[in-house]
Amino acid sequence: MLALAAPAGATTPDRLFQPAGTWALVARAATLLADTWRVDLDDPWLDFLHPATAVGEAKDGRLLYPVAMTPSPGIYLRNPDESWTTSEVIVALRAAAKRVRDELPGGFDLVLGDFSLRKGGRFRPHSTHQNGLDVDLRYYQTGIEPGDYSYHFVTEANFDTPRVWLLLTALVEMDALDRVFMDVRHQRRLYRYATGELGLNPDDLKPLLSYPHGRARKDALVVHVRGHHNHLHLRFRAPLARLVGGLYSQDEALLVQRAQDLDEFGRFEHVVRRGDTLGAIAAQHDVDLDDLRRWNRLGKRSVLRPGKVLVVRRDTQERVARIP
Ligand SMILES: [Zn+2]
Repeated sequence: MLALAAPAGATTPDRLFQPAGTWALVARAATLLADTWRVDLDDPWLDFLHPATAVGEAKDGRLLYPVAMTPSPGIYLRNPDESWTTSEVIVALRAAAKRVRDELPGGFDLVLGDFSLRKGGRFRPHSTHQNGLDVDLRYYQTGIEPGDYSYHFVTEANFDTPRVWLLLTALVEMDALDRVFMDVRHQRRLYRYATGELGLNPDDLKPLLSYPHGRARKDALVVHVRGHHNHLHLRFRAPLARLVGGLYSQDEALLVQRAQDLDEFGRFEHVVRRGDTLGAIAAQHDVDLDDLRRWNRLGKRSVLRPGKVLVVRRDTQERVARIP
């Protein structure tokens, strides 16, 4: 965890919770339950107890038992349908936004963009955002009317340095972040503000900002990645979601999602990957090849293109067996 001195003159924030202690306790409880979960992945009661789960990585992952971020005072959601994540991420974001509102009242709402899709996985046009722990959001900007959530280009004049700094350091104090993508020009603004107005020691900023010691320095939390001038990208640690996620392989996660979708919607959508054949897909989902063709109106000569969505329905044999 980064050790940052409290800005001179700033009030000591009330800690909303003690994350390190809480996570340690939760992680221990999860470890104790882990064996049970692994054995009984299909137990119906699991749905009620199971924490949101990040399987795999941001670039190749899935999200199980997702939680939807919802709007709250001071937080505006641009894409409510694509705001799936874990409760750890939600708690940290709400707490940090609340702290900004409490300490620097009167600012623009925090505008949150894409999180992950409901099941995680590929989320175009992003290459990441796959396991529920990545969030895109707007920088705080000054001079914008309350209730105006339209897009405003970020400039030197409207970049709200104190609020961005406070949001970032609030999340850092909660030990909530794994990585932040921010344009180096904005990092420079934060750096000057922290070393100037707040009087922080430049050495203390080294673990926080990659600026001014190389823009992509990997031992800093905040790194420069192209395309992050008009939005900020946060990747959360979410230790519980990752701990539980480590219990699932991607294939197991897929099976859980399929069972849930069949239960809830009566159908599951398989996205064709390179190298998939109809026979292999039928076998993977334990359905009849002819049924799979019929459900998707495919002829014997139909070509499977990667990215095509195939519908898989309930196992026919099971249905047949139930008819007296
Ligand atoms: Zn992003």
